[in-house]
Amino acid sequence: MVETWGGRLGQSNIAVVGCGPKAAAIVARAHCLNRFEGTGNQISVTVFEEHGIAAAWDGSHGYTDGDQKLCTPAERDLGFPYYSDEAFPDIAGMLKRDFSWDAFQLSPPHNKARYAEWVSRGRKPQTHREFANYIRFAFRQADNKPVFGKVTGIRRSRRHWTVEFNERKTGRPDAFEGFDGVVFTGPGPSLNKLTKTPFKDVYSGRDFWTHRRRILTNLGKRDAGVVIIGGGGTTAAIAAWLVRHLPDGRKINLVNTQGTLFNRTVNFFENRIFDDPEPWAAFYNDERRNFVKRLNRGVVWENVTDILSETEGLLFTPGRAIEIKAGTGGTKLVVVCENNTSDVPVEVPADVVVDASGFDAWWFTPLLPKALQGRVSRRNAERLEDGMLGDLSFDLPGWPRIHAPMHSQIIGPGYNSLMVLGGMAERVLRPYR
Ligand SMILES: Cc1cc2nc3c(=O)[nH]c(=O)nc-3n(C[C@H](O)[C@H](O)[C@H](O)COP(=O)(O)OP(=O)(O)OC[C@H]3O[C@@H](n4cnc5c(N)ncnc54)[C@H](O)[C@@H]3O)c2cc1C
Repeated sequence: MVETWGGRLGQSNIAVVGCGPKAAAIVARAHCLNRFEGTGNQISVTVFEEHGIAAAWDGSHGYTDGDQKLCTPAERDLGFPYYSDEAFPDIAGMLKRDFSWDAFQLSPPHNKARYAEWVSRGRKPQTHREFANYIRFAFRQADNKPVFGKVTGIRRSRRHWTVEFNERKTGRPDAFEGFDGVVFTGPGPSLNKLTKTPFKDVYSGRDFWTHRRRILTNLGKRDAGVVIIGGGGTTAAIAAWLVRHLPDGRKINLVNTQGTLFNRTVNFFENRIFDDPEPWAAFYNDERRNFVKRLNRGVVWENVTDILSETEGLLFTPGRAIEIKAGTGGTKLVVVCENNTSDVPVEVPADVVVDASGFDAWWFTPLLPKALQGRVSRRNAERLEDGMLGDLSFDLPGWPRIHAPMHSQIIGPGYNSLMVLGGMAERVLRPYR
C-alpha cells in the first residue's frame, strides 16, 4: 500500500531514516517550530527505524553494551547550542523547557531529587542506556511515532521522494510517498574490511558487544590475548571493557597506524569552534578536515583513556593490518601488519581479533535510485562533501533533497556527531520552515 501525505498547502514532509539522536533533535525542533502560529510551514517528520528507538545505544543491537558512558557532556543535548532565532524568538526556551537533558531528568517517573543528585555528583556522564531513554523521552514529548521497518530504497516521484520499507513485524513491503526531503542518519554498519574470514573468533566493532560474554570465556582459556584493529572511540571502548573484565595481565594489543590513542578533553578553545559557525567559515577545507579528524574521528575521550592507562596489559603495534590468518602451533590466529620499518610484514598472534577500524558512512548509497548511485557514493566522497549545501544536503540539482549530516564536516565540525545536535536540526529544517 502506498500512503500519501496529502501535500497540504503550507506543510513540508520530511523522512528521517534512523531513530537515534539526530532524528530526535529534528523531531524536537520541528515540534517547537510548529507551535509558532502564523509563521512558516507546518513540518511533518516521519522517522523510519529498522529495530527500535535508540537501537544503537541501548545495547540491543551492537555498537555498545548500553553500560558504556557517553563521551559528550550531557548538557550538549538535543537543543544545544540553543541559539536564538530571529523568526522564532522563543524556540531556544521551548527546546530547553521540553526537550533538554534537564527536562528529561525532571520528568516522571524521575523527580527533582534525581536531577539534584546528578548535579551534586558532579554531572557525571550518562550511560548509553540512559541516553537511549532520553531519546525515547523526546519522541514521547513530541508525540511522534516512528514507522518501524527497514528502509529498502527511496525513489523519486516528480518533486518528492517515496520511501520504501519492509514492515518490521510482518516483513511486508510498504511505501510512503510525498516527502520533500530525506535525511539519512547513523554511522552505518562496520566496514568489515578484514572480518570476512572463516574464523569464528573474528568480530567487528559492532558485533563484539553482542558476543562479549563468549569472547571473555574464550580468552580466559588462552594466552595470546586479543588484538583490536583501530585507533578511535570504538577501539578504545572495547579495550576499556576488556580491561575491566579480563583477569590482570591478559594482553590487549591495539594495531593502528598511529601507534597510540589520541586524547580528547574538555577544552574551551576547541569547543567554541564546534559552537560558533563564524571561525569555521574562515578555515580552508584541508584545515576543516584536519580539525574533524583530530577532534571527532580517531580520537578518544579522556574518561576512556583514564581506564586504559590503569592496565599494564595494553600493547600497541604500529602498522596497518592487512590480513587475518590461521596461526601455527598453539596460536589460533595471526594478524598480519605492514609498517614503515620492515619489508617483511609483522605477525601479531591472537586468540580473538576485533576489527574496529570503522563504519561505512556511505551505507545508504544502495538505497538511492540507480541514476544517483554512481554520483552519491564513497568514490565521490570528497567532491560531495566539499559541495554540501548549508542545509546539510548534497548539491544534486533537479532532485528532491537528500540530507546527510554524517558527511557535513565541511559545513561544520559537529553536525555529524553529538556535539551540536540542535545546530544540526536547525540547518536540516531551514528549507522547510
Ligand atoms: C556506541 C557509540 C557511541 C558514540 N558516542 C559518541 C559520543 O559520546 N559523542 C559523539 O559526539 N559521538 C559519539 N558517537 C558517534 C556519532 O555521534 C554517532 O554515531 C551518531 O551521531 C549517531 O547518531 P544518529 O542519530 O546519526 O544515528 P544512530 O543513533 O546510530 O541511529 C541510526 C539508526 O538507523 C537505523 N537504521 C540503519 N539502517 C536502517 C534502514 N535501512 N532502515 C531503517 N533504519 C535503519 C539503525 O537501526 C539505527 O537505530 C558514538 C557512536 C557509537 C556507535
